[in-house]
Amino acid sequence: MRIAITGGGLGGLTLARILHRHGISTTVYEREAHRHARTQGGMLDLHPESGQRALADAGLTAQFRAAARPQGEEHRILDPAGRTLVHHRPPPGSFAGRPEIDRTTLRDLLLDSLPSGTVTWQHRLTDVQPGAGGGFELTFAGGHRTGCDLLIGADGARSLVRSQLTATTLTPVATLIELTIADPAPELANLVGPGNLWCIGNRRILAAQRLGTGTLKVGISLPADDRPLDDYRTKNALLELFAGWNPDLTALITAADNPPTPRPIEAMPTGTSWAHHPNLTLIGDAAHLMPPVGEGANQALLDAAELAAELAGDRADPDAALRTYEQKMFARIGPVAEMSARVQAMMLSPTAAEDVVRFFTPAQ
Ligand SMILES: Cc1cc2nc3c(=O)[nH]c(=O)nc-3n(C[C@H](O)[C@H](O)[C@H](O)COP(=O)(O)OP(=O)(O)OC[C@H]3O[C@@H](n4cnc5c(N)ncnc54)[C@H](O)[C@@H]3O)c2cc1C
Repeated sequence: MRIAITGGGLGGLTLARILHRHGISTTVYEREAHRHARTQGGMLDLHPESGQRALADAGLTAQFRAAARPQGEEHRILDPAGRTLVHHRPPPGSFAGRPEIDRTTLRDLLLDSLPSGTVTWQHRLTDVQPGAGGGFELTFAGGHRTGCDLLIGADGARSLVRSQLTATTLTPVATLIELTIADPAPELANLVGPGNLWCIGNRRILAAQRLGTGTLKVGISLPADDRPLDDYRTKNALLELFAGWNPDLTALITAADNPPTPRPIEAMPTGTSWAHHPNLTLIGDAAHLMPPVGEGANQALLDAAELAAELAGDRADPDAALRTYEQKMFARIGPVAEMSARVQAMMLSPTAAEDVVRFFTPAQ
C-alpha cells in the first residue's frame, strides 16, 4: 500500500510519525526545498485533549516537555492606555494547562522522529488524476510524476487536494500584519513578558509573543474590510492606526526589524464537509481552515492521531478507515469552527475589550 501525504506541516508530519509507529510507511511530499527554507512563525499552545494527545500517540511527550515552555502560557490583556485588564499566570513549571512551544521547534521534533527519506522535499503538488490501476497519479512542479494508492491532503490553507473533494471557497476574516524584533530592548521584553500580550482597541489588536529564543513576534490584526493591504506596508502607516495609544505599546511597531508584511487571514465556511471519495481524504487546514484563535494546529494534530488510529485499526480496508475518520472529524470540527468564528468576530468588534475580559473571567 503506497500512502502519499502531501504537505510536511504539523498535521502531515504527525500523521507520518504515528503511522510509522504502527509499522505503516508513508511518503510525505513537501513543496519547500528543505526544513530551514522558511521561518515557521510564532508559538503554539498545545491543548491536553488534542495537540498533546496526538504527541502522546506519536511517542513524543518527553521530547515535547523538554522543548515546551509552560511559562509561555502567561498572558496579559491591556487597553490602549496600557492598563491591565487581564493577567493570567500559570502555576510555575506546570504542564497541566496549555504549554507553548515554538513552531520551528515542534516541526523539527516531528521531522527528527521520522526515518530518513520519509519527507521528499521540493515537491510541490500541481495535479492529481485517477491512476490507471486505481489510486492516484500525482504531478509535481517541474513535471515529476508518481503514483499512490491512498492520498492524504495535508497541504494547508490553500490545499490543492481539497479541490478534489469540495468546491468550497475561502473568505477573508481579518488582515494580519506581522513584525519581528529579534533583539528586544529590556523594557519591550518586560512589556510582553514570557508569553503573550494582547492590546485591544476598537476593531484593532496589537499583539506580541516571546519565542523561546527571546525574539518578539508582533502581530497587528484588523478587520478584513479595513483597507487595501498595500496601505499597511510602512511603520508610519501602522503608527497612524494606533494614534492616541500609549507610546509604550506602539514602541512594539517602532522597534520592529522588518518592514510590515500584511496578509489576509482566511477561513472556510463552518460546517464544510464533502461526500466521501475512495482512498482520498484531508487533514488539518486543508480539511477545515478556521480563524487563528488557537485551535487550528491542535485540531490538525488530532486529525492526524485519529486518522492514524483508524488506518492502524483497519488494515484490511483502508478506505473504510478514511470514511470513519471523516465522519468523526466533521462532527468534532463543527463546534470548534463555530467557536473560532465567534471568538474572531469578538476580538475585532468595537466592544472587544469588555467582551474579551468577560470571556477570560471565570463565572462566579
Ligand atoms: C497567525 C496565525 C497564528 C496561529 N496560531 C495558532 C495557535 O496559537 N494555535 C493553533 O492551534 N493554531 C494556530 N494557528 C493555525 C495553525 O497554524 C494551522 O492550523 C496549522 O499550521 C495547520 O497545520 P497543517 O499541517 O494542516 O498545515 P500547515 O502547517 O500550513 O502545513 C501545510 C504544509 O503543506 C505544504 N504545502 C502546501 N501546498 C503544497 C503543495 N501543493 N505541495 C506540497 N506541499 C504543499 C506547506 O509548505 C506546508 O509545509 C495559527 C495560524 C496563523 C495564521
